[in-house]
Amino acid sequence: MEFHAEALVVTHAPNIYYLCGFLGSAGILVVEPTRVTLITDSRYMVQAREQTRESGVSVLIPKEPILMAAGDRLDSIRARKPRIALDFSHMTVSEKARLVKAARHSANWISGAGWVEGLRTIKSGPELRIMRAAALLISSVFDDVFKVIRPGIKELDLAAEMDYRMRKLGAEGPSFETIVASGPRAALPHARPTSRRLRRNELVVLDAGAILTGYCSDMTRTVFLGRATGRIRQWYKAVREAQKAACEATAAGVQAGVPDAAARRVLESYKLGKYFVHSTGHGLGLEVHEDPRLAKGQMARIEPGMVVTIEPGVYVPDIGGIRIEDDLAVHANGTEILTTTSRELLEL
Ligand code: ZN
Ligand code: ZN
Repeated sequence: MEFHAEALVVTHAPNIYYLCGFLGSAGILVVEPTRVTLITDSRYMVQAREQTRESGVSVLIPKEPILMAAGDRLDSIRARKPRIALDFSHMTVSEKARLVKAARHSANWISGAGWVEGLRTIKSGPELRIMRAAALLISSVFDDVFKVIRPGIKELDLAAEMDYRMRKLGAEGPSFETIVASGPRAALPHARPTSRRLRRNELVVLDAGAILTGYCSDMTRTVFLGRATGRIRQWYKAVREAQKAACEATAAGVQAGVPDAAARRVLESYKLGKYFVHSTGHGLGLEVHEDPRLAKGQMARIEPGMVVTIEPGVYVPDIGGIRIEDDLAVHANGTEILTTTSRELLEL
């Protein structure tokens, strides 16, 4: 990838971490062709130097607010009317106005939105190793927690159990608020856990991820408490086939809409298409939702080094829902499924 600008101003914390290793909550990174400056405040003086040692950026702790200091730095660029890229998707209107004012001299302000995110979609070998470990970690949390699921447990307690196990296995925390949705609540794709108790003869959707060394995993399994009816088995079979078809359709060079179309085709053949109400997957990395989006009509190409989720589901109002989600790494010559928990219908 090539960008044309005299400077890029990075304000989004995951992007700053990606470029220089700094993990603080307040910082601005000014990237220029021959120097990179991390501007942060005095709370982070020691941390910023420690975390950025290997990246070679210079750390600046100004007396003035960091936006003003970033403006000063931009003002020192010698070019006449330099092109300066700002990440408009992660800056407020007022931040932009203050920065432009602080930079004083006339610049050509352009949008650098998505530049760093674009770089982040392709994972390096070391990043992939961490993501593999994060996926294995969450898989073992699921394997373990299956042993304690039973009627009578509250959704919230089960979610807490999963979060506890993640931490015990070395995760920094959950990638997002762990989802445990039982019975009719399983028909809500993004249900938050409640104090509802699990009951016999219903579906339970568990969706959870762990952050390991900054990188997220994201996995969903659906279990049935008791013996599933023929209808539930049929729905489960449909989702499993759809998920498998989408995984098989995921490959380097393919458009991001193709796995989604593959999943939809299977669910439609079971007359369940109208119950599949979200997209098939998303990129995964330092954030739990990254590019590319594996959704209807997406034309961006899937590339080697990307890590994506594949997570079709069906949601039948008042009855319940079924979703199966795995994390996949895309290589030039095939894909690798990182999450390892069984996809068979588990009747507990
Ligand atoms: Zn998920
Ligand atoms: Zn997901």
